Amino acid sequence: RQYGQDMEYFDSYSHLKIHHEMLDDKARTLAYQTAIRQNAHLLTDKVILDVGCGTGILSMMCARYGRPKQVYAVEASDIAEYTKDVIHSNKMSDTVTVLHSKVEEVQLEESVDVIISEWMGTILLFEMMVESVLLARDRLLKDGGTLWPSTASLFLVPCSAQKQYGSKMEFWKDQYGFDLSDLIEIAKEEFLQKPVHNHILDPADCLSEASRILNIDMRSVRREDLEQIDLDFEFTVQKSGTLHGFCTWFQVDFEGLDQSIHTVYLNTGPEHELTHWKQNLFLLDSPLSVDKDDVITGQFNLHRNPEWRRHLRVLLRFRVMSSSNNLKVPDREKLFYVWR
Ligand code: SAH
Repeated sequence: RQYGQDMEYFDSYSHLKIHHEMLDDKARTLAYQTAIRQNAHLLTDKVILDVGCGTGILSMMCARYGRPKQVYAVEASDIAEYTKDVIHSNKMSDTVTVLHSKVEEVQLEESVDVIISEWMGTILLFEMMVESVLLARDRLLKDGGTLWPSTASLFLVPCSAQKQYGSKMEFWKDQYGFDLSDLIEIAKEEFLQKPVHNHILDPADCLSEASRILNIDMRSVRREDLEQIDLDFEFTVQKSGTLHGFCTWFQVDFEGLDQSIHTVYLNTGPEHELTHWKQNLFLLDSPLSVDKDDVITGQFNLHRNPEWRRHLRVLLRFRVMSSSNNLKVPDREKLFYVWR
């Protein structure tokens, strides 16, 4: 089962479409480049491991801007065979070694000073590639070595999403003069059980300030900590409006190799340059009105699917209290699949 799941997963990375999308994402790729360039002088003679090198872009940046002793570029999907040619054509074969393998299975002659990897997915963790990075950390990183990114955070905000909700739900109320509302119940099942993964959140649709509900320290987090992540939230509504659901996005930080270097961060939120991750929208089955100063409290429970190990489930629970502490909306609960 796990083998089949990996086949399906790595197969998706053997095609160029996904690598094109990632390379074309300037905010993403330049954040890595900035971290590498700012630390370039400290990469001299270091051994670097690029977990999931794809087209080799991050390994080549390390080799060009730093003067590392060795870069191990590990890639499980078949793109690795082409990446070997890319490294060769860029005259970096002396420094960069491409290993066509799962990182879980590579044997290196030495432990590494730096692990660099771009493992983030929808709601930060989907694909659970982070697990491979943590295994590589435990097995191959020197004590006190550096992980890039070094920390990762998930943000949540209650929001309006009239257009998205309307196009999926209110749609049925009138089609060519006929009332198709009887279809709304099954439309909820079909369209609202999964988050909208490519939502572009207008900051004006945020009903409160966003909250950082999760912060992962890559040096210390354990794989088992990521099986079931139960997060609490509390929002004070800043403007009256319709609550259609909640949005998530993430930020990752690249700490400097010494104290003198500024931390570089990549934030995929609505106030920042749009990335290929966009934002993720969790739509409620029915919207509700909220007023300024209402308080929305609840939990965002992020659970790994026990069977489909790269997939996640989100159980969202919340209630709304008025500013005078009366219960306005009693407990609501909804389960989302990402994607199974
Ligand atoms: N570093 C590249 C690609 C990032 S996408 C870039 O920044 O453009 C993540 C890549 O990691 C994919 O190509 C995927 O096939 C690879 N990958 C995921 N898990 C892996 C594992 N356990 N071992 C080796 N490669 C892995």
